[in-house]
Amino acid sequence: MSNITHLECSLCATRFEPHRVHNLCSCGGTLFVRYDLPEIRTIWTRDQVRSARPDLWRYLPVLPPQRPESIVSLGEGMTPLIRAPRLGAAIGSEQLWVKDEGLNPTASFKARGMTTAITMAKELGIRKIAIPSAGNAASAAAAYAAAAGIEAHIFMPKDVPQSNYIECKTLGATVTLVDGLISDCARMVAERKDQEGWFDMSTLKEPYRVEGKKTMGYEVAEQFDWELPDAIFYPTGGGVGMIGMWKAFDELEQLGWIGARRPKMIAVQAAGCQPIVRAFEQGAARSEFWQNASTIAAGLRVPKPLGDVLILNILRESAGSAITISDEDILDAGRELASLEGIFAAPEGAACVAAARKLIASQFLKLADRMVLYNTGSGLKYLDAYAARFNAR
Ligand SMILES: *Cc1c(COP(=O)(O)O)cnc(C)c1O
Ligand SMILES: [Zn+2]
Repeated sequence: MSNITHLECSLCATRFEPHRVHNLCSCGGTLFVRYDLPEIRTIWTRDQVRSARPDLWRYLPVLPPQRPESIVSLGEGMTPLIRAPRLGAAIGSEQLWVKDEGLNPTASFKARGMTTAITMAKELGIRKIAIPSAGNAASAAAAYAAAAGIEAHIFMPKDVPQSNYIECKTLGATVTLVDGLISDCARMVAERKDQEGWFDMSTLKEPYRVEGKKTMGYEVAEQFDWELPDAIFYPTGGGVGMIGMWKAFDELEQLGWIGARRPKMIAVQAAGCQPIVRAFEQGAARSEFWQNASTIAAGLRVPKPLGDVLILNILRESAGSAITISDEDILDAGRELASLEGIFAAPEGAACVAAARKLIASQFLKLADRMVLYNTGSGLKYLDAYAARFNAR
């Protein structure tokens, strides 16, 4: 059933065999899955999608498993695209939507990447996975690994949100709390994986998490009736969601389902960890390691994204931007979004509200532009961060 032609390095374009276990290209590039889109185009229509199953597996012809029995699903994706007129009025937008990813299994969009990555791990016969995580990727990995009967070894910073730690333990993963950042966790996985027989599921170090996350791009296109919005605000840590959406738009154009127009892609980062914003402003091709990274938006605490070159290219190609928000403004924005629209967002998602306000005020975006804010997780996973705000008042 598989429509995959090959895997391809996203940096040097070297080709790799499909249906084998792979991590990175020898040049350090992430591998992308390539499909036979001209063939798929002849057998798959937008009408068929309309009546397909109500989760991200509705896009199966452009997803990686060879056998449908491999699919490990907890009902992820097809999250609502919610019109936000009251928030729009407050920040100066007539056309504002929130894509609410907090409704995914394990309450973040990390479920999208893990449903495909664990599905492929199962299909390829992998028995043990290891993952360094700032929090939500660990929860999702633990959940899908549990559902697949795969052993999960998780390394996360010891100050990760408590919800993530408790989730992972309850879901049966082996958890190591690390006195350091996600980059330190990644090093520990790299050091031990060969000896332990773990498959490394680090962000962008295996080819399939991007495939799940790209469905955010398919969905926004479908939900806007195949007419992309003018701007997409994306809270950028490792940048996988942005890289995935950009890949999705390219595939959709090759399928003939959308045209050549693209949204302005806006990377939103925290003031306490802003490697992409810094590199974007300096016109640099790649980012530099952000020292002493610190923010309540745990998913944005990625000091040196592996996919930095890809992210920066997307921002530039899309005539987008990159912007930082302080933790204080993030929590204020979270309260604003919640009280005006009824959406209790993760701090990462709340940061997009503050970013939209800034880019409208600076006239980078206009009143009538159609804007989508990605709320990547539920605020319920960050009660400690929100509680600290109330106690301080
Ligand atoms: C992981 C995470 C992010 C960052 O995601 P990337 O696609 O890796 O940039 C943003 N928000 C939340 C809630 C996350 O868990
Ligand atoms: Zn390469």
